[in-house]
This record gives sequence, C-alpha cells and structure tokens, in this order.
Amino acid sequence: MEAIKVFCPATIANVSCGFDVLGLALENVGDEMEVRKTEKPGIRITEIIGQELPLETNKNVAGVAGLALLKQSNYDGGFEIKINKKIKPGSGIGSSAASSTGSVWAMNELLGKPFSKLELVQFAMEGEKLASNVAHADNVAPAIFGGFALVRSYTPLDIVPINTPPALFATVIHPQIEIKTSDSRKILKTSITLENGIKQWGNLGGLIAGLFTEDYHLIGRSLEDYVVEPLRSILIPGFNDVKTKAINAGALGCGISGSGPSIFALSKGEEQAKKVATSIANTYDNIGVAYDIHVSKICSKGVKEIKN
Ligand code: ADP
Repeated sequence: MEAIKVFCPATIANVSCGFDVLGLALENVGDEMEVRKTEKPGIRITEIIGQELPLETNKNVAGVAGLALLKQSNYDGGFEIKINKKIKPGSGIGSSAASSTGSVWAMNELLGKPFSKLELVQFAMEGEKLASNVAHADNVAPAIFGGFALVRSYTPLDIVPINTPPALFATVIHPQIEIKTSDSRKILKTSITLENGIKQWGNLGGLIAGLFTEDYHLIGRSLEDYVVEPLRSILIPGFNDVKTKAINAGALGCGISGSGPSIFALSKGEEQAKKVATSIANTYDNIGVAYDIHVSKICSKGVKEIKN
C-alpha cells in the first residue's frame, strides 16, 4: 500500500473524574488525513484544509509525532501528509491528538504494522508535548485504542482499554472562546485534600465499573469531579448553567472536556443526547457567544481507514 486516507476522531479527555488518565473517542466528529509514502526521506506536510496551522514538520504535531515513529523504524523513505482539519485547535476535544494519532497510525499501516498500539500512543504523545508542553496520553490513547481508554500509569506507559456501553452518546458544546491549555493548567493546584481524593477515586472506580457492567445509573453517579472542575469551570462562561440544564434534561453527567472550553454530557441513547443538546444550546444564545454543538456515539474503533 502506497497511500491511505484515515478518520482521526475527536476525543474527550478527563471525563470528569479521570484527570489526565481517562479519555473517550467520538464516532462522528473528527479530522481526515491522507498519508502517502515517498522515496524522499523525511516528512512533508503538503496541505492543510480548514484551519490555519503550520506546514513546517517540526511545528505541526502530525510532523513531530511522525518523526518519532520514523526514528524507530528501519524504513529509509519518507511520507507526505494532507490534513483536512475539522476540529478547531484549542477546542478541548483533542484537535492536536487527532493529527498526531492519524499521522502515526497511517504510517504504521503503510509500513505493514511494525508497531503496537502502545508504541503508537508513545509516538503520538510527542505531538501532544509540542501542542501543550505536556506529553499527556488521555486524548491519544482513546484515539488509537477506540472507546474509553485508561492511562493506568505513565512510567511505564500502561494503557487499559475500557468497555464502551453501546447506548452511550456524548453531547459536546464548544463555545467559541479561547482558553489556552497552558492557562487552564496554571490554574490547577499541585495538591488535593485527602477528603477530595477519596471522593475522586471512589468516582473513578465507580465509572470504570459502570462502563464494564453497562450500568448507566452507576456511570451517572460517578461523573463528578471534585479536583479540577471547581477550579477550571470559572474560566468557562455559562458552565454552571449548561451543567444544570444538561442534568435537568436527563443527561447521566456533564463536565469540562479536556482543558475546555468545550463542555460534554453523556446520555443513554441518541434521542436523550439530542434532547440535552437542545436544552443546553440556549445558554450561549442568551450570553451571545457563538458555539458548535455535536451529538455523537462513542467510537468503539478509534482512528480508522476511510475507503473511497
Ligand atoms: P485541543 O484543546 O482541541 O485539544 P490542543 O490545545 O491540544 O487542542 O492543540 C492545539 C495546539 O496545537 C495549537 O497551539 C496548535 O497551533 C497546535 N498544533 C500544531 N499542529 C497541530 C495540528 N496538526 N492540529 C491541531 N493543532 C496543532
């Protein structure tokens, strides 16, 4: 195979109680990418449609993640990349992770799959490091493994794929305000109280158990964040209003997607997720902030080939 076209899913990191360790992939929100083998060594990004992003290999996460893979492979050619960017950078739904993931996954396919999924996560994390200075895996792991993925440990990297109940749908609202990932990291404290720690790991355990047993009520009870949301939510205008409306409309839970400003809600069933979308949309109509809104199934497969 000389070339491949891939779908690179948007992802929701943290999922309320799993700061930096849990993420999920969306099924119908994401970028597209074309990767082609070239005789010339190295990586060239030849076209980016949809967003203003650097074409320079070293400044684009797709290039940096791809170079990390090339360094470990014995392939002496190179790659050309085209990106159709549908996820806005800085939205909090894994824009950079989609490009890092698409790049390394596509290259691995074209080279005959020499690398494991875990290795691909490691390469893609180099892209995340470029985007936010932190090589976090909670977006790239679900983008590569699909569904929910838990980063049990960073050193050594240990990714645990988590069962995704089939009726689980996400509603994501993206108010068009800019929050720099570095600012939303700066606002965090370096320590938490034991009391909050106990509540948080109770919820994370509950959420994982709920996902495996497909117990939607347990999932709902566990979607509460005592550590990060109280600090970060003040950066997102309308957050409390959106959360109250989502829960009142029947969502299982609602929280900040990644470092924001996107807000996600999880629901049982597509109709319910659409009802949540309708009821939260008017928060930003009332404030006068433009927004995008998505309703999506959780993607069980993650990054995948698109056949023309
Ligand atoms: P999100 O908040 O949606 O996860 P990130 O904050 O992770 O987005 O990434 C956005 C940052 O990464 C921006 O500074 C952007 O310029 C940079 N970047 C570099 N290459 C890419 C790319 N291919 N796709 C998206 N962002 C990129």
